[in-house]
Amino acid sequence: MTLAPSDTTGWQQLDTAHHVHPFCDPATLAERGVTVITHADGSYIWDSDGNRILDAMAGLWCVNIGYGRKELARVAAEQMETLPYYNSFFQSSTPTQIALAERLSEVTPKGIEHFFFANSGSEANDTIIRLTRHYWAQQGKPKKRTFIGRNLAYHGSTLAASSLGGMSAMKAMDGEVLPDFAQIMEPHWFMRGGNMSREEFGIHAAQALEDKILEIGAENVAAFIGEPVQGAGGVIDPPANYWPNIQRICRKHDILLVVDEVICGFGRLGEWFGSDFYGVEPDIITMAKGLSSGYLPIAAVGFSKKVFAGINDGGVIQHGYTYSGHPVSCAVALANIDIIENEGLIEQVRDESAPYFHEVMQQLSDDHPIVGEWRGAGLLGAMHLMKNPQSREFFAPEDDPAGKCREYCLDHGLIMRAVGQAMILCPPLTISRSEIDEIAEKATIGLNETAKQLGLL
Ligand code: PMP
Repeated sequence: MTLAPSDTTGWQQLDTAHHVHPFCDPATLAERGVTVITHADGSYIWDSDGNRILDAMAGLWCVNIGYGRKELARVAAEQMETLPYYNSFFQSSTPTQIALAERLSEVTPKGIEHFFFANSGSEANDTIIRLTRHYWAQQGKPKKRTFIGRNLAYHGSTLAASSLGGMSAMKAMDGEVLPDFAQIMEPHWFMRGGNMSREEFGIHAAQALEDKILEIGAENVAAFIGEPVQGAGGVIDPPANYWPNIQRICRKHDILLVVDEVICGFGRLGEWFGSDFYGVEPDIITMAKGLSSGYLPIAAVGFSKKVFAGINDGGVIQHGYTYSGHPVSCAVALANIDIIENEGLIEQVRDESAPYFHEVMQQLSDDHPIVGEWRGAGLLGAMHLMKNPQSREFFAPEDDPAGKCREYCLDHGLIMRAVGQAMILCPPLTISRSEIDEIAEKATIGLNETAKQLGLL
């Protein structure tokens, strides 16, 4: 059955009848009706009723170069005509796979030089679990298997990636958590810092890693993994001294440092990678999303020379995906990286758009009666909603201020994401000043309506 894009009710009925959605309550969705997005350009998406919506989440934190880039469509079409598929198993490769691996060695953090391809952030993180354990086995330390992550971390949705992460609701759903994973506190000063200064809390939160290593025994710990800024957990940007201390502790105890760059990679923080922003030199990184700006699925794991050398001597790598290094995705990723570089998007974020974004959103947050904290780094930000910021009173869970605010914002043509009681922003790196102003205007309307609905305005 074919429906005209404008037939929203028809789309909604078919969606309810046949489509199972990720991270969605099916009953609520059936009652509300799905939002159908039909096309996009720049920072905007359009729904099936013709509404133009400012996408201040860049899709799912991924459309770094904005929508509607015809160069990427052209490159994909050309690659499909030349070689739509060939794999990288069994000693074969394709030109775009080779070129992308080489290109990544130029832009990724210092010391990262070898790349394994996957299709999603989840697969990339599964890959590091398997290959890191393989690495330690090759070093004669097969007991080093445990991964230490953090509460509220998101590393993906497969069984292994959800065990690696710190999302309790995900783990509760199927009741299954794999062995040899542990979590420490998230470095969220506003929520967890008590009377400590931000710097004191940075040391305290990093110390939780050393405490956990000593509890488990360094001889059993393979790696620590963290997102430079925790994204899906609520945009948690750590104090500046947190990551250098994490790195020091990893080195001291001979634990690999894995940085999940799935959100922070490719310019999000105004540097190529979050590791560059926080001044750390990881042993392994994972990347996805901004690698192709979401135009096609592709992910990668980057290894340092040391880690790769360890794996290199270990015989056959018993791991891989049919679409590892899909030639069309690699071609699109290469063109995407060229756009980021040629248009100076990283410098633009660092020097212009991110400072302006924080100035505007900080002001809004300071002025608004239900915003308790504005936080973030680069083009990542969150407003923490509170019933009374002065007396530090939080909303009750059933008030659901963020869920309400999200819907009001959507009604006014703005996509923000609700995480717990925070409103999240992650606009395309191409966002303009006037679009940032539009985010602030529409967010203010959404916040006002939320406050009114909850009897606070
Ligand atoms: N790591 C991080 C930091 C993420 O934000 C995500 C996705 N939001 C993932 C991993 C998983 O990526 P994917 O959804 O592509 O599997």
